[in-house]
Amino acid sequence: MTTSQQQFERASLRIPGGVNSPVRAFKGMGQAPVFMKRAQGPYLFDVEDRRYIDYVGSWGPMITGHADPEVLEAVRSRVDDGLSFGTPTVLESDMADLICDIMPSIEMVRMVNSGTEATMSAVRLARGYTGRDRIVKFEGNYHGHVDSLLVKAGSGALTHGQPSSPGVPASLAEHTITLSYNDIEGVRECFAEMGDSIAGVIVEPVAGNMNCIPPLPGFLETLREVCNDSGAVLIFDEVMTGFRVALGGAQAHYGITPDLTCLGKIVGGGMPVGAFGGRREIMSYISPLGPVYQAGTLAGNPLAMAAGIALLEKIREPGFHQRLGERVDQLCDGLEAHARAAGIDLITQRAGGMFGLFFTAQSQVDSFADATGCDADAFRRFFTAMLTHGIYMAPSPFEAGFMSSAHERTHIDETLEAARIVLAGMAD
Ligand code: PMP
Repeated sequence: MTTSQQQFERASLRIPGGVNSPVRAFKGMGQAPVFMKRAQGPYLFDVEDRRYIDYVGSWGPMITGHADPEVLEAVRSRVDDGLSFGTPTVLESDMADLICDIMPSIEMVRMVNSGTEATMSAVRLARGYTGRDRIVKFEGNYHGHVDSLLVKAGSGALTHGQPSSPGVPASLAEHTITLSYNDIEGVRECFAEMGDSIAGVIVEPVAGNMNCIPPLPGFLETLREVCNDSGAVLIFDEVMTGFRVALGGAQAHYGITPDLTCLGKIVGGGMPVGAFGGRREIMSYISPLGPVYQAGTLAGNPLAMAAGIALLEKIREPGFHQRLGERVDQLCDGLEAHARAAGIDLITQRAGGMFGLFFTAQSQVDSFADATGCDADAFRRFFTAMLTHGIYMAPSPFEAGFMSSAHERTHIDETLEAARIVLAGMAD
């Protein structure tokens, strides 16, 4: 038994499923998760000191690689001053200025401790601001484990919320309308029918929780238009895409301005941080300025702000995101070429520093139905074989992959050589 297997058995005695967040459990992958003990640059090292080239990057934050010396130094330099004060600090204003500068749609911003808190607060704010209850979301988009947003979609264009988890009251879920991602007609029909009762639309502007699905031309534009016409608040959940798809997030990349934006991951440099912000008029409804309550004991924590600021400053360097995109292209083009040579149906989809692999004969994957139609068993075989070659991909066919600037051409080449062997083996 490996040390990871032993540790997984131990963890499972005291921690539900052995993990503190479900996808870490490698469910459906046919093996125990690997326990990591340290990380450096593009690498993770497991408890037996095996090295992996990592394309998860702590699920997004590690855009300059693990243990970035400048981020670590920013944290180290603050530690001796104390871990938390529960008072305003200058660092919080530095962070707010930086976010508003990078994302001009954000005129005011509130820091929170996770992406979930950001989306939860943005939804409450949209409801408080409009005085309406209904929220529109999209099938296969994940916005954290917020009650109102943990709602399963059925088939068909328009589904009135069925909770996707016990514990979410049906009476709450019924205010959530789930539409199909990239379905412009579905959006128009929904707003024609009930637009004046919709508080807000929340969307991943590039879907990263059903693998990687960019918006089709016109989709985000339509959301902007129906929100303008109906008075609903357009919320971009950029927890994953923010600072990754482009420095200014998907909103900069696609040129669509949301009313509110949710942030997480990169904004904390690996510390537990989220943020939500947007138009001053809407953000002025947040307490203590306005009536919509929202708070956090550790929100704006000095060490977390220091880490996030250091990382954001670093990735503002001109050309950073272009280089990241080039690495994604090298990896994805190479994977497709090796799959073609092996006769395996594999396509990739990309958006800036994120990417997805789909085992499918389709030429494009645009929706949850398309994503769930892919060959999950082929993915599992690919994932486990890559792992034995020291390549750590996201352990689920529904998660995007993340590139970092610490991934050099040599790391991509090593990954592609492993993939060549694995894909050829899968074809046998
Ligand atoms: N929104 C999106 C788009 C996410 O990808 C995630 C997490 N992966 C969240 C919200 C929730 O963030 P957290 O896990 O920090 O609560």
